[in-house]
Amino acid sequence: MKTSIPIKEISVPKAAPSNAQSEAVRQMGVCNACRYCEGLCAVFPAMELRRQLTGPDVDYLANLCHSCGACHFDCQYAQPHEFAIEIPAVMANLREETYARHVWPGALAPVFERNGIWIASITAISVALFLVGFIVFTDASVLFASGSEEGAFYRVMPHNAMAGLFGAVFLYSIVAICLGVRSFWHSTGSQGSVSWRSLWQASKNAATLRYLDGGGMGCMHESEEPSNRKRIAHHFTFYGFLLCLASTTSGTLMHYVFGVQAPYPWWSPTVVLGTIGGIGLIIGPVGLLRVKREQIDALKAKPSRGMDVAFLYMLIATSVTGLLLLVLRATPAMGLLLAVHLGVVFALFISMPYGKFVHGLYRYAALMRHAHEQAQHKA
Ligand code: SF4
Ligand code: SF4
Repeated sequence: MKTSIPIKEISVPKAAPSNAQSEAVRQMGVCNACRYCEGLCAVFPAMELRRQLTGPDVDYLANLCHSCGACHFDCQYAQPHEFAIEIPAVMANLREETYARHVWPGALAPVFERNGIWIASITAISVALFLVGFIVFTDASVLFASGSEEGAFYRVMPHNAMAGLFGAVFLYSIVAICLGVRSFWHSTGSQGSVSWRSLWQASKNAATLRYLDGGGMGCMHESEEPSNRKRIAHHFTFYGFLLCLASTTSGTLMHYVFGVQAPYPWWSPTVVLGTIGGIGLIIGPVGLLRVKREQIDALKAKPSRGMDVAFLYMLIATSVTGLLLLVLRATPAMGLLLAVHLGVVFALFISMPYGKFVHGLYRYAALMRHAHEQAQHKA
């Protein structure tokens, strides 16, 4: 029985390296001669397997980097040394560039420049459209509707319209993200097969954020004092998001399998999972925003595109409006809150392929490639 996942070989047109890629190749060339940081994370062992680095190689290495900052504080060639080695900043910049390079459709690549402004505009327009849509397709009184009894939400927006709209936009986003990640994956020059063992290793590394630990002592964002704040906040965000996804899935099952309509009672799996996930999706992003605010300049992507911050605020807005809707659904604020919450969720879904959300998938692909290469190297 075959126990590996075949990787299709495709020819990738060779493009001239960007400035960010050329700079990463230069700096990694110094690292490859120095090798002082090889025990810190996956980036340096992956680099050492390559005699010569190309643009796609450094794209791959950039997505392996978890921005822990450890190599900056360890580096004897960081500024003011003339080599001016700034690995975390170079990798952060290149990662954001990679998302634009592989985005589908390619015409939307400019959205990654000034990403924060784009995401904020999309959210504002989406919320406004839901408010106007509720009034146009029903009437203004729905904005002051209340009710926690079964089917109350669907008097404001019919279930079929809600399911059709959100199902379509979610499906579009998943397809767009998959096409982007597929392009990135092939650009790394994949050959051979990825074994289930490598897949399992990559999944473990992703689920535990193994490389967000500065080589074991914690991240160094603000100073040489290591801390696990970023890793913990990231875990809250990631698992909070998964719980919210589980809540939505359970709501779908309640509706289609058990014939029970939203809003659901407090004790239902949909509400319990959504509440715990929603709280995690506030604690995590707030913690990450704090870490980001205190991060030293040498670790930041240059230029700043506002991508991280926009995504974190979007997650917070999704959770806060969802939890407010839960608490105030029996009051006349329900209609308005439902419009705002749906507007924010719609903006989150539609912007998923065009913002920071994609980093998880690109990183997972890079971790998979790394696990595969290390297994081959040891064989
Ligand atoms: S980051 Fe600096 S110390 Fe670390 S391997 Fe590169 S050149 Fe050497
Ligand atoms: S910032 Fe951390 S994860 Fe990134 S290359 Fe440096 S040590 Fe590795």
